[in-house]
Amino acid sequence: MTLMTLAERKAEVDRRIEEACRRAGRDPSEVSVIAVTKYVSLERAREALAAGCLNLGENRWQDARDKWEALERESSEADEREKPVWHFIGSLQSNKAKDVVGKFTYIHSLDRLSLAEAIDRKAASLGITVPCFIQVNVSGEQSKHGLSPEGLQELAEGLRQYPAIRPVGLMTMAPHEGDPELTRPVFRRLRELRDEANRQGWFPEPLTELSMGMSNDFEVAVEEGATRVRLGTILVGKEEELM
Ligand SMILES: *Cc1c(COP(=O)(O)O)cnc(C)c1O
Repeated sequence: MTLMTLAERKAEVDRRIEEACRRAGRDPSEVSVIAVTKYVSLERAREALAAGCLNLGENRWQDARDKWEALERESSEADEREKPVWHFIGSLQSNKAKDVVGKFTYIHSLDRLSLAEAIDRKAASLGITVPCFIQVNVSGEQSKHGLSPEGLQELAEGLRQYPAIRPVGLMTMAPHEGDPELTRPVFRRLRELRDEANRQGWFPEPLTELSMGMSNDFEVAVEEGATRVRLGTILVGKEEELM
């Protein structure tokens, strides 16, 4: 894929998502792509935006800052349609929540009440609500962030104290497997957990979203119900390979 333009890569990703939707009997309009720009420069992120990738994902504020500031400034004069929508996808320390809330529309890594409190406090001071994904460590890998599936109900109850947080869905990261098919049970379990939460009414509003699937496994994730796939390498690439 290295020699393809970004627009070509995007078209290829969209085509593969459409095929995965067809296999699963889903409507492709239910799936949106987050272009993860954490590996690339401002120039490349700008190119992604110009190619129509309006949803941008970053996992550290320090690395995102220059891109965020420049693209926000440039798009403030542009048409509303061309404005980026920012997704914070990385693990977040509670004392960093104030840097991110108000800049990133969505937070994908809410996994504990102490973080919820920090997000809520900053959001309340800005008079906004923050749509959040709750990150669940389905695979149980030690290296992965996220709460255990068994902890979801309790977290949901605790979140009721934080009115500026609007839970919209669940997020997970699957283990990196050579064969993406091996990630299927992880994605399926996340969907079942969401459906269970909705059946039992754990959240004030039903959770509609599933943030799951990365470059190596997004088609399986789409087949299992992903509404957001987070694509870095396959879509915007990595800076080393672009040189
Ligand atoms: C980096 C990252 C991605 C994108 O990874 P690729 O494999 O390059 O697509 C997705 N989600 C999270 C949480 C990430 O940190």
